[in-house]
Amino acid sequence: MAKQVLVIGGGVAGSSAAYRLARDGVGVTLVDAEHEGQATAAGAGIISAGRVLHASEDDEWRRFFQDATTYHRQLVLDLASLCGSEIGYRVVGELLVTPGEGGEARLADLASRLEMLNATWRDPQIGTVRLLSPAEARKLFPPLDPALGAVHMSGVARLDGRLFRHALQSAVAQLGGRRVSGEAIIRGRAGGPPVVELEGETLEADAVIVAAGAWTKRLLAPLGARIPIEPQRGQIIHLALPGTATASFPVVSGYGSNYMVTFPPDRVVVGATRETGSGFDCRATAGGVQELLTRALGVAPGLSCASLTEIRVGFRPVSADERPILGAVPGFEGLFLATGFGPSGLTLAPYSAALVAAAAGGTESPGPREVDDILEPFSPGRFGPAA
Ligand SMILES: Cc1cc2nc3c(=O)[nH]c(=O)nc-3n(C[C@H](O)[C@H](O)[C@H](O)COP(=O)(O)OP(=O)(O)OC[C@H]3O[C@@H](n4cnc5c(N)ncnc54)[C@H](O)[C@@H]3O)c2cc1C
Repeated sequence: MAKQVLVIGGGVAGSSAAYRLARDGVGVTLVDAEHEGQATAAGAGIISAGRVLHASEDDEWRRFFQDATTYHRQLVLDLASLCGSEIGYRVVGELLVTPGEGGEARLADLASRLEMLNATWRDPQIGTVRLLSPAEARKLFPPLDPALGAVHMSGVARLDGRLFRHALQSAVAQLGGRRVSGEAIIRGRAGGPPVVELEGETLEADAVIVAAGAWTKRLLAPLGARIPIEPQRGQIIHLALPGTATASFPVVSGYGSNYMVTFPPDRVVVGATRETGSGFDCRATAGGVQELLTRALGVAPGLSCASLTEIRVGFRPVSADERPILGAVPGFEGLFLATGFGPSGLTLAPYSAALVAAAAGGTESPGPREVDDILEPFSPGRFGPAA
């Protein structure tokens, strides 16, 4: 009989794991509690490796990001041909701006660093790097401050996290997988994989992948498994610019950890707060909204006439060392994790979860090397014994 894998969590991580399992002929059940504050439903949707390539000195980490974006591009094509769903995906490029004193010199420095990195990494996610004059930058993103030049990276993409999750789950159903709603509860162990219940019924499986995002620690508590992962609240504002077609505008970033990303027909998404220690407090706050609008209008005063249409709140799952937690949990038979994606899950989770799916389902590696080798630096065991 084909192997049966249970995936807990229907955000981008769990949906991606379930998709890969169903695609590879493994029996899969996906359970989702649809908690308020699901990170995937709030995520801005920027798909980029560029920031890590220029901010990190860790080549292994850079390589992982690059492999993740390579996988991502193929996945977008595969989903389109399988279910044809619109996921809001588009390569729009990114403008990096450096407002404030010494901004021009910092911009020139950033452009030359990115060009150098690009020569080594040749990442399609970066694409072509160009230093733009204020007039050229404003042509691409008209609300921008007329005094700001920018560095343009042509390869950055964006998508709609909600549509992406929906497309992955539709593909799972189309490929014969099962999706159920409700809160899974782990009851303990009985000499095999964890015993998981949903509304009083045991869900039988040969392996369990926990992709429960910020709720992972809570779910695993009955097992006594120690996994250092906490919720980090992110508030994000949706604006509309009636009469302005925003679909092709590039992402704008570089001003702190904030950014703007646009969607058709006239949406401008302004993100995002990073509130460590927030717990599961789902509220949008006056301070959060003030921070986002002050920073966005500081670089793009042309947005001051936009309508404020929505505020979303999500909990990023952040691990103790801010890297994903992936693979088998040492000391717990049949238990795998795919979580800890922090601010980059829409970019990283599809590949990461496919690796975990291959480890749990015993199928072929989706990456350039053996699954165990790729997953080793992200093992739950790196934080010490989980049991
Ligand atoms: C404001 C904001 C902006 C972001 N922008 C970007 C971006 O531009 N680019 C990018 O790459 N990333 C971005 N991210 C990060 C990205 O959204 C997250 O890293 C990613 O969505 C995490 O996905 P996940 O599946 O691990 O968790 P989630 O999406 O939170 O999903 C976890 C799921 O598990 C379910 N669950 C939990 N416990 C149980 C249980 N017991 N039983 C059943 N189901 C359960 C929950 O209900 C939930 O549906 C952003 C995040 C935020 C908050």
